Amino acid sequence: MTEQLVSTNPANDEVVATFPIHTAEQVQAIVARAREASKWWRDQGYAGRKDALLAWKRHMAEHSADLVDLMHRENGKPLTDARLELMLALEHITWNAKHAGKYLRPEKRKPGFLLSNFSARLEHVPFGVVGVIGPWNYPVFTPMGSIATALAAGNTVVFKPSEYTPAIAEWYVDAFAAANPDAPEGVLSLVTGFGETGAALCRAGVDKLAFTGSGPTGRKVMAACAESLIPVVMELGGKDAAIVAHDADLAKAAEAIAFGALGNSGQTCVGIERVYVERVVRDEFLAELTKRVKEIRPGSDDKSSYGPMTMPSQIAIVRRHVEDALAGGGTAVVGGIESVGDRYISPVVILDPPHSSSAIQEETFGPTLTVTTVESLDEAVKLANDTPFGLAGAVFSKKHAEEISEGLDTSQVSVNSVLGFAGMATLPLGGKGESGFGRIHGPEGLREFTRPRAIATQRYAPPMNLLTFARKPWVVRLLPRMIKWLHAR
Ligand code: NDP
Repeated sequence: MTEQLVSTNPANDEVVATFPIHTAEQVQAIVARAREASKWWRDQGYAGRKDALLAWKRHMAEHSADLVDLMHRENGKPLTDARLELMLALEHITWNAKHAGKYLRPEKRKPGFLLSNFSARLEHVPFGVVGVIGPWNYPVFTPMGSIATALAAGNTVVFKPSEYTPAIAEWYVDAFAAANPDAPEGVLSLVTGFGETGAALCRAGVDKLAFTGSGPTGRKVMAACAESLIPVVMELGGKDAAIVAHDADLAKAAEAIAFGALGNSGQTCVGIERVYVERVVRDEFLAELTKRVKEIRPGSDDKSSYGPMTMPSQIAIVRRHVEDALAGGGTAVVGGIESVGDRYISPVVILDPPHSSSAIQEETFGPTLTVTTVESLDEAVKLANDTPFGLAGAVFSKKHAEEISEGLDTSQVSVNSVLGFAGMATLPLGGKGESGFGRIHGPEGLREFTRPRAIATQRYAPPMNLLTFARKPWVVRLLPRMIKWLHAR
């Protein structure tokens, strides 16, 4: 029997579904079909694509109970978290459907003095077929940041979901076809398998590839895409810090940070993993934080705050980070190494681990949080910036939020809150350094999935035609004087 991909429930190992492991040849055939469909999809124009995308999201909303249940079973997250994730994804589909025409319409550009006999315009042209390789932590929302955007921009999409969440992906890929029975096969397609299938997608003739996942795998994806100069978007990990200033509302800061750190079992690329708090308010903040965190517990019933770890191998990483932080002199103020179970990890808060420890320098992706005491806001900013990542950060302060935000070397900042930017369909999301590059979401995301094409149209033949070998002698004589007249003043 051919090998299959078996997806299981991380809470109890029950089989959720089985999938084929697509070979390189099969992936190529699916990309070829997506290319055939791309002319039809492009010909729909913004209005047609808007109708198709809105039909898709209505279908998803109408049948959302099934999808939410599947998200709970295959990813492990609580039903309420699954609903929230779906809501955000539907918002993003809607925004992209409604705004692609506005942000990607051709733009007039000025031709400039020397070529004033021309008209100039810029078009935003879809790439053709976009490959999307997605993660398991937000299996609907995160890939949708690329899928819905690439589709709205006029591309067809071939999606390779994580091996941990293929059934969720299949559900919404099938939903697109069900909501759009007149669309040819191949507008949105699924390929399933492990890393090799993802690597095959990079080499299957896609025109652009959007990847979300870890830095090491991102590098492999870039290397595979480099073979054919395929452009990439890299949405990689983070090590986001929250800075709590002396004038912050400490109770509200603690509440937001607890959610930003522990929600979704800490498996959030823009989750809070580190806190830097000024010494004068450290004890009060810690009291507010620990009070809240002690009430939070993992589980799979409807009272639990978050679910099991979706990817079992992550548990060892979380354990290593906790051990490293404690061995280096950090103090566990909530939980400890015993909190790291085989499936579930209870919250762990560690005070003042060494700055060099893996809990501070590497992405943990679990329900743990470090709290570091600082003497000043400058020190907080310096330490917050001192990791290889640069995804997002959070600032809690009444009067100093702007200056702290300016100092943070990240691509997104939340002020007196966490995570808000990711939910706003109008704002771009992306990283720098180990957090990747390129943008999804917002107008910048739409443009990421198009290439600019410049069109220069000669409206009339000018007396002073520069773009010909038959240039008149007086034109040639005029040029040195023009250089001085135009540029030496
Ligand atoms: P990976 O980066 O390994 O995987 C992400 C996606 O890439 C998955 O669909 C995976 O498929 C696929 N993939 C794996 N190998 C290749 C390859 N050689 N070529 C192309 N595609 C490939 O992430 P993991 O899921 O293993 O998680 C590891 C770490 O990544 C986590 O600990 C976390 O730190 C970080 N992460 C960050 C996320 C973010 O939002 N930025 C999201 C998820 C994880 P398959 O699953 O089948 O192997």
